[in-house]
Amino acid sequence: MKRKGLKIEERGRVTAVSNPLIKIEGLPLAKTGEILEIGGKKAMVFQFGKQFNKDYLIYQDIVYALLLEKEEEIKAGEEVRPLSDIFRVPVGKELLGRVLNPLGRDIETGAEIETKEKRKIERKPPEIMERERIQKPLETGIKVIDALFPIGRGQRELIVGDRKTGKTSLALDAVLNQKDVICFYVSIGQKKPEILEILNTLIKRNVLGHTVVVAAFSSDSPVLQYLAPFSAMTMAEWFRDQGEDVLIVFDDLTKHAWAWRQLCLLAGRPPGREAYPGDIFYLHARLLERAAKMNKEAGGGSITALPICQTKGGDISEYIPTNLISITDGQLYLETNLFQKGMRPAVNIGLSVSRIGSQAQRNYLKEVVSGLKLILSQHQELKRLVQLETKISPQAQKNYKRGEILLEIFKQEKHKSVDTINQALIYYAVLNGFLDNLKIEKVKGFEEKFYQSIDYIYPRIKKEIQEKGWNDKTKEKIKNIIEKFSKEFFS
Ligand code: ATP
Ligand code: MG
Repeated sequence: MKRKGLKIEERGRVTAVSNPLIKIEGLPLAKTGEILEIGGKKAMVFQFGKQFNKDYLIYQDIVYALLLEKEEEIKAGEEVRPLSDIFRVPVGKELLGRVLNPLGRDIETGAEIETKEKRKIERKPPEIMERERIQKPLETGIKVIDALFPIGRGQRELIVGDRKTGKTSLALDAVLNQKDVICFYVSIGQKKPEILEILNTLIKRNVLGHTVVVAAFSSDSPVLQYLAPFSAMTMAEWFRDQGEDVLIVFDDLTKHAWAWRQLCLLAGRPPGREAYPGDIFYLHARLLERAAKMNKEAGGGSITALPICQTKGGDISEYIPTNLISITDGQLYLETNLFQKGMRPAVNIGLSVSRIGSQAQRNYLKEVVSGLKLILSQHQELKRLVQLETKISPQAQKNYKRGEILLEIFKQEKHKSVDTINQALIYYAVLNGFLDNLKIEKVKGFEEKFYQSIDYIYPRIKKEIQEKGWNDKTKEKIKNIIEKFSKEFFS
């Protein structure tokens, strides 16, 4: 008897469940990331192992899989059917303006977003030959960052600090300042009200149209928390492949590491330093390696990543922060001490660094910034002398005061961005001594009125400096403007 079209399919059986991890026997051909169906519910192959079978006295292959949804109940003995497909998420412009879970479903309705294409969440980072030198700035509108730690499109800059030091606000401000950049805000392990607040801000500021929010809440399974940054990166890569510049915020990778640790401990992987599995470095490295600036042949797009990392007691020598610091191109170190003193954003200028962004900094800003750095380093030295009440020369006093003024200017309310030309102009005013006679309490008032006056009365000078930079003519013009403004302000 002939059997036409006979098809052989594998079947496995659940042997044990420790939610969200399921142990399965009898799937010799399973692949990592493959989707399995167990009584209508979906799971994803996570890792492989061996188990001793007492009846047959042999070692038998077993598969560990992760349940993709939390509430579902699976029992030992249930049949497992491989779907011969790797886990994929929807990608496409339909995602814009949506709030998604890491499976690509709308958080509110639970419906999957319909797109033309779906992609795997683990993808190779761009090759060296596809990459290009970072040249274009990603302006954050945050003065201290744009001046001292500029970020370039395609860069990876870590935001690190203790709890409640303004990490989220800083990253969110960078998102709010983007106009021609697609933004992804990836929330990992936060509570629902926190995301709602962020969402409200995005809506109020009218940026949701070019933003995608991907969220795995603290109440969600660790599986979703682990998947979130990888799913979002895959979605971001689709936009990059269309030649777009993308900014992606991971808030935060400490909680991501916790979720990964939980899953690996459940699966019996040997714990290493701080009980993290040995591959935790590789996990974050292969995620962040995918952020890059592509060259023309590769579409010319870019992904800039702002991963956030939480520390305890300001200790950046812990395992996860040190890993992330070594993976990224620099870090913005936020400090509780500064935050409490009112220095907000609480960026520690000495411990922060941006290794490649300055090559992308706008020329009109770059030219004044060298002067700022000099003032700040002198201020740091003089501070010790002033604290010891040592007598310092009038020239040193003047330099010290300029440092104080500058630090006052770096203070910035959240969600109040300043464009880089106004930034350059105020620094020019400081460097040329226009603020020397101002009391520190008056600096903020001066600054605010100055920006208003530039924006409403002298908008042409902004365009001129943007196009021509600093030359004798523009310098002369701006000097006159500042003089005029100062006279009015002081009177
Ligand atoms: P968590 O550790 O809980 O994630 P975080 O480090 O992300 O906290 P935020 O939530 O951004 O910190 O900020 C903590 C608080 O500080 C918030 O109430 C926020 O409004 C306030 N804040 C942050 N930045 C500023 C700023 N530049 N000016 C004024 N207030 C700020
Ligand atoms: Mg936060």
